[in-house]
Amino acid sequence: MSFLTISHLEKSFGVTRVVKNFNLDVEKGEFISLLGPSGCGKTTVLRMVAGFETPSAGNITIEGREVSSLRPNQRNIGMVFQAYALFPNLTVAQNVGFGLRVKGVPAREIAARVEEMLALIGLPELGDRYPFQLSGGQQQRVALARALAPKPQVLLLDEPLSALDAKVRVSLRNEIRAIQRELGITTIFVTHDQEEALSMSDRIVVMHQGVAEQVGTPFEIYNTPATRFVAGFVGTLNTLDAKVLDPSIGRVKLGGNEMTLGRAIPPGEALLGLRPEMLRLGAHPGEAALTGTITELDFLGSVIRLRIDLGGQPLAVDLFNTTRQAPPKVGETVSLALNPSDALVIGG
Ligand code: ATP
Repeated sequence: MSFLTISHLEKSFGVTRVVKNFNLDVEKGEFISLLGPSGCGKTTVLRMVAGFETPSAGNITIEGREVSSLRPNQRNIGMVFQAYALFPNLTVAQNVGFGLRVKGVPAREIAARVEEMLALIGLPELGDRYPFQLSGGQQQRVALARALAPKPQVLLLDEPLSALDAKVRVSLRNEIRAIQRELGITTIFVTHDQEEALSMSDRIVVMHQGVAEQVGTPFEIYNTPATRFVAGFVGTLNTLDAKVLDPSIGRVKLGGNEMTLGRAIPPGEALLGLRPEMLRLGAHPGEAALTGTITELDFLGSVIRLRIDLGGQPLAVDLFNTTRQAPPKVGETVSLALNPSDALVIGG
């Protein structure tokens, strides 16, 4: 049995079902992200795990114990929110020790644990400061220390980085992941930022309109998206309408080009997904060839981003600037190569 299991979880507000038959098994020490656009129900799932929201149906167990009927403070869960929810009138040390004080832990033990936590988050000197004397990133580290101080079984993070500026966000990402690994604490992280989810998670749950559309490692989610929504939401994807000429070998016609995918696909119309970085300039033996005209070119340093007109359908192409050859020019007609197995055929 998994460390944390969520089965057939449902939540309705009035007549609106915002979480629909949500199922998830989380292993001990795993870092799971719930990823999806605003309003898809990810926070509601997290709040049900925390106990702030009562499920309309379904079960949540932690180490085999059903927790759905327990109050938040009986669940042994630590939580960090988006907005800095530190107590403004308490010092950093008092904030970090708060959960332990509520539990009646002796003062000496609290002091030791607070010191340990402040060292863990890299702020050993700041125990006497008040929250207003800290930067946003420091406040979120303190919020993390406060959540971890009582040694919860599960850590829940609700968009903890979204209020921070871009640079701090990236460094705190790595720091949170390093602390999570060091403690081996089972973590569920809510985010609408695909880069955060891809870079931090052991596995990602992509949510859409209350449904978990796909659960997988970042690699699986990016490379083999299960549905059209997942394909479009995670990473940049060209979606191209194609006419299937021979379903048995996957021969398709798209934008004045024909190519063979080398695998059977459903007959009729197909929606193909091509990642911009999967295409290369020139002809390559054994690869499919597409011809189109460059309509835009952005030189970004490490990457040259092209926009191609493929017989009426736009195609974004990212070329890596590895050859140091002068890039092609707008208006040129170019040949592009693609490994046919990299072309996604999107269903769902
Ligand atoms: P965001 O990133 O914007 O927080 P989310 O994916 O976390 O989005 P939820 O906050 O879980 O989404 O909300 C899912 C849906 O449920 C939304 O349509 C929201 O308006 C609705 N909702 C959430 N809480 C309540 C509530 N207490 N009463 C009524 N509707 C609610």
